[in-house]
Order: sequence, then C-alpha cells, then structure tokens
Amino acid sequence: MDFIEKNRKICLFSKVYSLRKYLIGIDLGGTNLKAGIVDRNGKILHQFSIKTDANAESQVISRQICELVAEIIKKGRIGQADIVGIGLGSPGLIDKKGETILFSPNLPKWHDVPIKKVIGEKFDLPCILENDANAAAWGEKWVGAGKNANSLVMLTLGTGIGGGIIIDNKLWRGMNNVAAEIGHMTIQADGPRCNCGNYGCIEVYASATGMVRRFKELLESGKASSLKKNDEITAKRISEAAVQGDKTALSIIEETGRYLGIAMVNIIHILNPEVIVLAGGMIGSGELLMNPIKQIIEKRALKASYKDTKILFSQLGTDAGIIGAAGCLLKELEISA
Ligand SMILES: [Zn+2]
Repeated sequence: MDFIEKNRKICLFSKVYSLRKYLIGIDLGGTNLKAGIVDRNGKILHQFSIKTDANAESQVISRQICELVAEIIKKGRIGQADIVGIGLGSPGLIDKKGETILFSPNLPKWHDVPIKKVIGEKFDLPCILENDANAAAWGEKWVGAGKNANSLVMLTLGTGIGGGIIIDNKLWRGMNNVAAEIGHMTIQADGPRCNCGNYGCIEVYASATGMVRRFKELLESGKASSLKKNDEITAKRISEAAVQGDKTALSIIEETGRYLGIAMVNIIHILNPEVIVLAGGMIGSGELLMNPIKQIIEKRALKASYKDTKILFSQLGTDAGIIGAAGCLLKELEISA
C-alpha cells in the first residue's frame, strides 16, 4: 500500500469510527472472564462475567470470549454499527506486535494464540490486545485515581504483583513488550526464591499470596488472631481483621506496607512519577497500609524525587481491567487516526 492510499484508508477509518459510541472491554483472568460495554467517557454501561475454564484448550477459551462478546452486545441492546472496537486485556506474555498471547502462567494450555485476529475477524471490528496489568494502569490513568496524570505507575497486588508504567501519557512496554515487571524487583538480596527463579522479589513478600503466607506463618508460630488456621484466609480478610483491631493482622499489613514502601522508593528514584496507584483486596485496610508506605518513602527516598509524587489507591477496583482495555483501544485508534 503506498503512502497516499494508506492515509486515505486511515482517514476513512477514523471518520467511520469517530461516530461510534461504545467500546467493548474484555478482562481475561485465570478465574473470571469479564466483558463490558464502555462509553467514550470510560463508564461501564453493562458488564457480564463467566468463570474461566483455565485448563481448557486455547480454542475453547477463544470461543468463550467470542460468545461473551456476542452476549454482551445482545444484553446491552446495541447494534454492531455502534461499536468502535474491542480491547482485550490478558495476563502473560504478548508478542511485540501486540497480536498473539505467547504464554500465560494462569492459562497453561495457551501458547502462541493469535487472539487479536480471531476476535477481530469474528466481529469485523478493530481489536487490540494488551497485557492486563498495563490495561488496568491505563484505566486508572484514563478515568481513575490517576486521571490527568502524565506519568503513572500501578501495582496490582494479587497472586503476584502486576505492574504498569505510563510515561508521557504512553504505556511503557519496553523493547520486547515485557516491561513493568515490577513484581520481580529484588528488595532482599538473599530473600526466598520467587516463581520467576530470582530471590527476594517484592511479590514474594507483598503480593496477596505473599501476605497470606506470612500471616499463616505467624499463626503457625502461635500468634493469636480472630482468623484461625483452618479459615479460608485471603488478603481481603486479613485487611478486614486489621481494620477491626486484630493485632496479628495489623502487624502483617504494616509489614506489607514497609515492603511496598521499599519497592516504591526504587520506583520513585528511577522514574519520579506523578502518581503511584495501588490495587488489590488488601487496599481495604486503607491508612493502615498507606501510613507505613509513606513513612518508608519519607525516611528513605530523596526528597526532590518523592515530594510531589502522590501515592493513591485504585478508584476503579476490579473494573480497571475492562475500562482499561477499552481505553487502550480508544487510545490506539486515536493514535492511528
Ligand atoms: Zn520474581
């Protein structure tokens, strides 16, 4: 395609899609597969979720995604002609071009899945594929805690720690589309082994999984708590217990805050971002988690680096993935328009 022809197509494309009102955001997780209709202001109008059959073959999950999109279009009572396109946020490694999921630890049978092509062709709509942590970060920057921020770093505290970095209003993806692995920042040189093979990564300590493990170790050592060894212990429940005055839960939340503070000192020194956003079930503990984070930053970081950086909790919560995937699509189309 020559240059003029290419530009003509782009103009035609932008004219058609600029009139359309709705975006579809998909958040593909190891537990839930969620889809939503999002308007151009980042508001979810309808959403729908099903359980992910994480051990299914890639074709089965691809089909589920397509069925979910068809379902949400039907439930939302919108015509396909009103849809700008589809944004998909996925865990795992995505190829440089942003077309294929190379590998996803939560979806073991997914290898080299050309999901962008599958969905785009099925619905004949523009489609983008983005890493889920990047999508969530973009959502918070678009309409959430970091609205209007020029630079933002997001940490999602879950099974691991997902990271997203936005610099000068753009996601920083790195040379091979694998940047922002903040969870694998070493904070303890001789710490426990991480799933990545390294030692002492921040996610060993401060992910939801890491925090639950440390809490269970305290219970095993005989510390008293309102939560018992045989209870189903989650980061959210530890946070709730801490808020209600449980001393053992509180000590774990504070320790988690100190670990996160150390990681953030590193982030602040390297990037000097406008905003750092924290997400995940444990943010329910509010100031109990935030205070030790801020204390560590004030104690350890260079004042010139941290003085204007805001540390905030996620505003979009579990909707960040859907909204962010839709927002990434919009951003992509605006760039290409
Ligand atoms: Zn690691």
